[in-house]
Parts: sequence; structure tokens; C-alpha cells
Amino acid sequence: MLTPLEPWIHTKIGLPKSTLLTRTALNDYQLERLRATVEHARRRSPFYRQKLDGICGADIERLDDIAKLPFTTPADIQEDDLRFLCVSQGAIERVVTLQSSGTTCAPKRLHFTAQDLELTADFFRQGMSTLVKPGERVLIMMPGELPGSVGDLLTQGLARMDVQGIVHGIVRDEPAAIAEIIAKEIDCLVGLPVQLLGLIRHPDAATIRHGRIKSVLLSADYVPQAIVREIESAWGCPVFNHYGMTEMGLGGVVDCEVRSGGHIREADLYFEIIDPASGRTVPDGERGEVVFTTLTRSGMPLIRYRTGDLSRFIPEPCSCGTVLKRLEWIKGRLAGQTTVGGQYLVSIADLDEALFPLPGLLNFRAEVTQENGIDLLQVTLFTQGGPAEALCRSTRESLENIPALHLAIAGGGLKVVPLVISEQNWLSSGSIKRIIYDRRESTIC
Ligand SMILES: [Zn+2]
Repeated sequence: MLTPLEPWIHTKIGLPKSTLLTRTALNDYQLERLRATVEHARRRSPFYRQKLDGICGADIERLDDIAKLPFTTPADIQEDDLRFLCVSQGAIERVVTLQSSGTTCAPKRLHFTAQDLELTADFFRQGMSTLVKPGERVLIMMPGELPGSVGDLLTQGLARMDVQGIVHGIVRDEPAAIAEIIAKEIDCLVGLPVQLLGLIRHPDAATIRHGRIKSVLLSADYVPQAIVREIESAWGCPVFNHYGMTEMGLGGVVDCEVRSGGHIREADLYFEIIDPASGRTVPDGERGEVVFTTLTRSGMPLIRYRTGDLSRFIPEPCSCGTVLKRLEWIKGRLAGQTTVGGQYLVSIADLDEALFPLPGLLNFRAEVTQENGIDLLQVTLFTQGGPAEALCRSTRESLENIPALHLAIAGGGLKVVPLVISEQNWLSSGSIKRIIYDRRESTIC
């Protein structure tokens, strides 16, 4: 079935119902919005007035001209978020503060007007219509206490299609979450991948009737496929991905029924894929860094924001039949990969895919240090309890089977140091973004 984003975007860009949505019509709309965004930003935001250095909306004649515009980086926001504002602070409805994964780096603050938040609630309503139907109930295992938080906007969006969103928040007590699923007859779960893994692997999960959960939405910067497979086989329900970040307005890209790459909220966001080294746009189909520009953001528009996430556009059309672009699911982040043994690149995604299939493992943390010129990989495992020895052995074997690690160990440049079992799951206390902690450097942002 056609992604619900297509008829929604058709209406949003003001095309009459009788006219077919074409790529050309959408490109024309995006060009007009891009020009308007550049004008809005350069007139109202002190940061962009300086950054754009005289470039104005009229200088953008074609969408490709976006390459004339400078990038915006996370560090720009960390440095001074208030310089980005295009409205008075009184017009800001919600400020989201993002702590960085490194302790020495400043947090990032993102500002949204009521109108910005409304656009996201509307997107959530559309995206979720692939997963749930009127009368159903969704348990949202994400923050939702505050107005304008992701859980709150999702609840608002769901209510518009007569679906009840119930905010559970980040799971800190699996039995309580499982009891709520059963008591409230939940049909759909929305959460972070590792949290869903924790639920499925908890002994109480056996009390959830087979068929109770009809769909799951995993929302993250990237979703380990090992976790998707485990949820699908445990519950027999489809698992959908959502890729979004606060900077995107909390929502960005979502699976259609085909579940083979996501569709972008293209009326609100313009996506590019660039070569992270040269900054040049790469041809469709090639992998690179995801960069996006907001097209409808009023409070704090972002122009060519570098996400650090790696992906590509899938050039073949989606079999749902849409003209919307299709983004391959994120495989990793620039900051999530590191070189070990001098030349072997390994990513947190490599570790996730190798380790999450191991029975009994709920989460882990990987750190690289160095001693006498040799890299040391330390992995701390968070487990269900039970015999630790077998899990340590299988973890070590799985790590040594990752090609980059295998080569680095064989070359004498890397050692896997003894594994540690921990009682603490970092998800409930720390960063959501998954990275390999590189202690050979002084800071990680
Ligand atoms: Zn599709």
C-alpha cells in the first residue's frame, strides 16, 4: 500500500487533488521553501546573517544550488543556540536540551515554536497510520511527561486518528512495562531498540499473549537488525523503523508497509547525502553523511545540518509506488566508528550485529584504550543474570569473528581485554546514541 506520507505531502504542498503528485511538483515546492528558509534565516537569525555571508534566497535558482550554502554543524549549535533563533524567545514553546556523550562538551539546545511542534505531531499521525488503526492502543516507551516532548507529540498525533497513546516513558522496570502491556491491552509498542530487547528477553515476556502486539516502531538514529529479527520472531509482528533526531524536529523518516527503507517528510525536510571528507554531494545510491535542511521550521531553522549519520538514497523506486525518496536505514554514524590496530575501521553497528543475537545479553558498552602502543578493546556486558562464563566466551568469539577485529588482532595491534559483567544498564541513565567510547582521545562530542 502507498505510504500515507504521499497523500499527506500532496495536500501539504498545495497541489489540487485532481493533479498527480510528481517529483517535479515536489522539487518545485522544495525549491520555493528552500529560498524562503534562506531568506527567513538570513533576515532573522544572527548566526545565519553572518554565516550566509550575503547569499540570499534569489541566489538559489535550482535545488542543486543548495551546494552554495555553508553547512551547519552540531558545534555551531553548542557554541550559541540563541543566535539561531528567528523569533523572540517568548514565541518559543519548547526547548530541548541534548547532553552530548562526552562529559567535557557543551549541551545542544533546540528551540521550537508551537507551529514547529504541530508539524511534527501531524507527521507522527501520518507515519503511525501504517502501524495502527482507529480504536487501538500504543504504549510509548519514550519520554513524554513534558508538553512538546516526543511522547506528548506522538500522543497528540495518534489521538487525531482515534488511537490512544499511553506514555510509559523510558523503561526502567521491565515487569511493570509488561504488566502495563497486558492490563491496558496494548496493540503497538514504540521504543528504543535496546529497550525492546530487554522486554523480550525478560522472563515475564512469556505472559504476553501471542498476537497481543501487532506492530512495533523502533525509533533511533539507527536500529540493529539483530534486534529487529528477534522481535519479529518472538512476537510474530512487523517491526517498523523511524529515524529522527531532535534537530529534525523529533520526527524525520519512517517505514511504509514495504519496510525496505524509509520515506522522508519531504514537505518539511530536504535531505542530501554528502561525502563527509570533501563535503560534496554524492550521486543517488552512494553512501555518505546525511545532511538536512528544514523547509518549514519557524523558530530555529537549520540549513544543511550535518547529522554525522551514514546512509544513502535507494535509487530504485519503492514497491509501495510512491514518488517520495527512499532512504536506506542508517547503518552507523561517523562518530560511531573508530580505527583499531592502526588501520581497521570498526563501528558500533558491527558490534551490535555481532553481540545482540547472543542469548542473555541486554546491552553492552565498548571502550577502546591503549597500552604500550597496542589498542585494547574493553566490553562491559549488561545481562539478565545467569551464568556469565558462557556469555563471556561467546561474546569474545563473536568479537573475534568481526572481520576488522579479527585482522587487527592477527596483526598484533589489538587485544580484547577481559570482559566485565555489569548490573547497570546504561540506557536508563546515559546517552541514547550508541558509540564506541574511544579513550585514546581526550574528548568525544
Ligand atoms: Zn514505500
